[in-house]
Amino acid sequence: MAQRASNNRGPGGRGQPANPSKRTAQGLRDQLRSMHGASYGRYKSLTGNWSFDGFTLEVQRVQPDPYAPASRCEVRVDPGHAGFPSDLWANPVRARGLAGVLVRAVHRRLKDSRLSVDAGRQQVLDRSSCQIVDGTVLLRLGIDMPGRGRSIDGKQAEQALCRDLPDMVESALRWHSADQSRVREFVDSIEDTDALRRELAPNNLVAFVADGAVLPRRSGIDDRPLQQAVPFTSPESLRVEFDLPNRGRVSGMGVPEGISLIVGGGFHGKSTLLRALEHGIYDHVPGDGRELVVCTHDTVKVRAEDGRRVHRVDVSPFVSHLPTGSGTSDFSTDNASGSTSQAASIVEAVEAGSRTLLLDEDTAATNLMIRDARMQELVAKDSEPLTPFLDLIRPLYQRHGVSTVMVMGGSGDYMDVADRVLMLDSYRCYEVTERARALATTPTGRHREAETFPDTRARVPDPRSVETDRPKVRSRGTDALTLGQSTVELRAVEQLVDPSQVTGIGLALVTCVRAGLLDGTRTVHEVLDAFDAEVAKRGIHAVDDRYVGDFAVPRRFELAAALNRLRTLRIGAFRD
Ligand code: ADP
Ligand code: MG
Repeated sequence: MAQRASNNRGPGGRGQPANPSKRTAQGLRDQLRSMHGASYGRYKSLTGNWSFDGFTLEVQRVQPDPYAPASRCEVRVDPGHAGFPSDLWANPVRARGLAGVLVRAVHRRLKDSRLSVDAGRQQVLDRSSCQIVDGTVLLRLGIDMPGRGRSIDGKQAEQALCRDLPDMVESALRWHSADQSRVREFVDSIEDTDALRRELAPNNLVAFVADGAVLPRRSGIDDRPLQQAVPFTSPESLRVEFDLPNRGRVSGMGVPEGISLIVGGGFHGKSTLLRALEHGIYDHVPGDGRELVVCTHDTVKVRAEDGRRVHRVDVSPFVSHLPTGSGTSDFSTDNASGSTSQAASIVEAVEAGSRTLLLDEDTAATNLMIRDARMQELVAKDSEPLTPFLDLIRPLYQRHGVSTVMVMGGSGDYMDVADRVLMLDSYRCYEVTERARALATTPTGRHREAETFPDTRARVPDPRSVETDRPKVRSRGTDALTLGQSTVELRAVEQLVDPSQVTGIGLALVTCVRAGLLDGTRTVHEVLDAFDAEVAKRGIHAVDDRYVGDFAVPRRFELAAALNRLRTLRIGAFRD
């Protein structure tokens, strides 16, 4: 047997050629100078480790030509050189905060250079581009290797690797040169947000919006806070207080479990509040305005999405029969309608383990949401297959413990089933539950169409659903994932905020199959549990061990959403 793998492996890393003594910063400089003008392909010889003063550069993948995607490298800064006090990375949440602030500093520093880094924007995600491991700073960078036509521009390469890179490490990745109070403030803020989120469930809340929070964004394509926004103020009746580890006492609106309606006139800020709750699964950067807006980690936004694929979903709670005569406890279509897509998405969210659903009338299918008295009168129940969410929302909570927060300005019928009603009036939030209750005592004449929300069937996905032969994984913004031959539409998965999450989903799907988590015997829920357990144990490596590009660890719900939208998904069996 040929011994291929071990032959060219030096002590320091993969693909490292012989003569490690020259693999220093000076050695790199010499090599780049000697390569100046040589054919571009010779950049490949840079692959491997180079030790600098206090850090190591590993060139992991070299682009074949100047127009290809940037080359990839990793920088490892020794704990002694980086010097960050251990309390800044003492637990995984603080370590994520430290990585978040450092990678943003690196990003600022690398502007106008050939080096690039995936820093993210308003949300601080667990991402492969920067990790803190026992005080070591690991940074993954792209580097666009300079060329003149098809030949190497060694001078510019020297500028990037031997000057810009060490300067960046010196100014952005060392405690002694850091803006120390900014770093501390950032890490403390992330820890506070996380701690606040953990307070929700023990206090029977699904969400919290701090007094003073800024909810609206600058525009649909700019996620920074709107300037001159009306800051949030909690209604007195819902105000709660928490003590956070760093900031101390905070007050704001606690949204209890159960069924909460958000009502109010058009353009008064209803969807803005709901959208802030949607993103309450994330920790936001200081200054974002949503640092203290949180919802439980298992909150899922659901919407209608006509045209999506649905594969073997038990939508029978919502759909009793179909004109095609096909069964609704095993429902498949390549082209769902607004109502069936939304029904499937609700069932799938519950299957994945969500305990809080968010819905907005703006993006919901009306005929799945309501069916009023007159329509009940006109269209007999046996010619209407749909059971409206109105009659299922309460059983969903009572039987399955799934709460709903819903924007519903257009139908008063929901007052019958709501535990509380919030009203937005000129961006100010009031609780109007008492008035809504009084109104609900006047009968509407409609009758209930469901007594319960039955258990739905647990699905067992077939591992052959996912291409595993090193498929290309690529994100198109947060709109779509390319996974080998398949494209997964993710536009309606509204809690995705970052293309790196989309890449993470693609990698995680492949890893789930390759590592045997998705093995043809586990249900969707069990696969997701196994994935979460791996993430808890191994962090980003649970998503992919070898990938050198940028990705962020996805949440189980977005992973499930992508699996469910995969056009090649096959459900092999049900576990009834
Ligand atoms: P609704 O869903 O009630 O129709 P939206 O939430 O879509 O209303 O908000 C309407 C507009 O008001 C948006 O342009 C939004 O940015 C703005 N807006 C929302 N909340 C605030 C606020 N607290 N301060 C200032 N502007 C706001
Ligand atoms: Mg709206």
